[in-house]
Amino acid sequence: MATTLDIARDNPNAQTIVASPQPIKVMSEDKPPLIGLSREELAEAMALVDVPEKQRRMRASQLWHWLYVRGVSDFSHMTNVAKDLRARLDEVFSIARPEMVDEQISVDGTRKWLFRFPARGAGRPVEVETVYIPEEGRGTLCVSSQVGCTLTCTFCHTGTQKMVRNLTSEEILAQVLMARDRLGDFPDATTPQGAIVPSEGRMVTNIVMMGMGEPLYNFENVKKALLIASDGDGLSLSKRRITLSTSGVVPEIFRTGDEIGCMLAISLHAVRDEDRDILVPINKKWPIKELLDACRNYPGLSNAKRITFEYVMLKDINDSNQDALELVRLLKGIPAKINLIPFNPWPGSQYACSDWERIEEFADIVNRAGYASPIRTPRGRDIFAACGQLKSASERMRKKDRDAATAAGTAA
Ligand code: SF4
Repeated sequence: MATTLDIARDNPNAQTIVASPQPIKVMSEDKPPLIGLSREELAEAMALVDVPEKQRRMRASQLWHWLYVRGVSDFSHMTNVAKDLRARLDEVFSIARPEMVDEQISVDGTRKWLFRFPARGAGRPVEVETVYIPEEGRGTLCVSSQVGCTLTCTFCHTGTQKMVRNLTSEEILAQVLMARDRLGDFPDATTPQGAIVPSEGRMVTNIVMMGMGEPLYNFENVKKALLIASDGDGLSLSKRRITLSTSGVVPEIFRTGDEIGCMLAISLHAVRDEDRDILVPINKKWPIKELLDACRNYPGLSNAKRITFEYVMLKDINDSNQDALELVRLLKGIPAKINLIPFNPWPGSQYACSDWERIEEFADIVNRAGYASPIRTPRGRDIFAACGQLKSASERMRKKDRDAATAAGTAA
């Protein structure tokens, strides 16, 4: 069951944000998507609508612009594409958005959406949660990479939802496109000024792959989606503003830096293997030493490109002064920032949040050792949008259906 509260209607402090004026076409049909294809794949796909070989790259560039700069979800808005071709594209492909099942707005302005993606292949429809956190001068979108999660981190509500399936590159990007639609963050496609990507005043300035799922267990789709999101002729989000957070899938950490080039965050949460084995059970496979060795070798690591270590503050579990000192010892030599996250309780959770004075003392020790150690203000608690609280109602699929859905997404 989804842990959602519908407070949006009654929230007097909700921000008024004008959603995109463009009518949004909702995914319903079972056509292969164009969103989520690389430029090369997009050009190849043009063969299916009889675009002559010599024109395919040009057509792919046109489509790229409409999809990611203008944010259209309907071929009929692509006014510089011939009518016949638009009709043909519409027959064969989909660029529609997922259905928005729910939108909640916290008293602090945080938004949480529940998106439903239609069945692909033999699979069933699935639902994922995406969260938008507005802050002074920036807006961060927390994006999901899987429906459910195979890992069972004991402090995390998502970990109680069984894995349903990986999201495709289309579904990962669709969360960004939908958020921008809802926030009015796309230029109006109907005006000449609409052609220009605003460099200032954007609502979504940062992406964190910190929603539902372990992104490095869905590496190829996440990579594809993030490379598209950072393409300078499209959504144009700097790789320095994209952070991928992993619980510690050591073999994929180097590839993340090498092939995606984004910022890295590690869900550390404990400083001793015996504690981390319980809090983040993947630690049994790749213990703290191996994880930190992989961090030391992260491509491009420098003071300007530090790794963020996430540390949830759990009362009497991982919050002593000894823990703080051990944390400092472990991270020696790694350009790092430590985010201290007051635990967000969820129904049935076995932990309590550390007392505020304890968190501050812990932060002081880490800070005195030369590491930035901000205490994250919990956001969106009233709508269960805070860290580790995301969970949708999608049911586990049978393996056969999962494979079919993944194959359909990959083939598209
Ligand atoms: S913290 Fe991340 S990896 Fe761990 S259970 Fe939650 S969603 Fe999965």
